[in-house]
Amino acid sequence: MTQALRRRGLLGAAASLAALPAGRARADLPDRQRWLWVQNNAGEEVAVAYRTGQDYNIQALARLQHLFRDLRENLAGPTPPLLLDMLSLIQERFGYTRPLRVISGYRTPATNASLPFAAPNSLHMRGMAADIVMPGMAQADVCNQAMQFSQHLGFMGIGWYGSFTHVDIGPKASWTRMLN
Ligand SMILES: [Zn+2]
Repeated sequence: MTQALRRRGLLGAAASLAALPAGRARADLPDRQRWLWVQNNAGEEVAVAYRTGQDYNIQALARLQHLFRDLRENLAGPTPPLLLDMLSLIQERFGYTRPLRVISGYRTPATNASLPFAAPNSLHMRGMAADIVMPGMAQADVCNQAMQFSQHLGFMGIGWYGSFTHVDIGPKASWTRMLN
């Protein structure tokens, strides 16, 4: 598929978001394709329709799992589809004009321990969290949007770090931590 076609597909996928029922453990998404267009810190990029209705595309999940890997140790971890759904919803809200940047996805315990700001029991070590930036957008708006999903869905931890947003599919929680 050419880049041009892929981008058209992405733009076509940026339809309006259906209302999400409160208190559900999963997003009840319309029966159509869901897209993610993501980039990691190594500059690698994946743009895929990873889900159609209730069916996840195994090959697409494998590509995303590789992209979300621990770059320091070059090791891939679990990439729960629910986390991908959450990221897809956030990306959809902001339009598919640029890739969502994953500045930290899966972390091995060693990598997590090497980061001064990381929680010792971080959900990144279970692949259940991602630190994200939406290029070209006010990052506070991205955080606020994630927070709204969290409130509405009754789960998701959201952390605001000043220049990026931490999103996880753990219990509902929110915190603010400004890093220098
Ligand atoms: Zn994080």
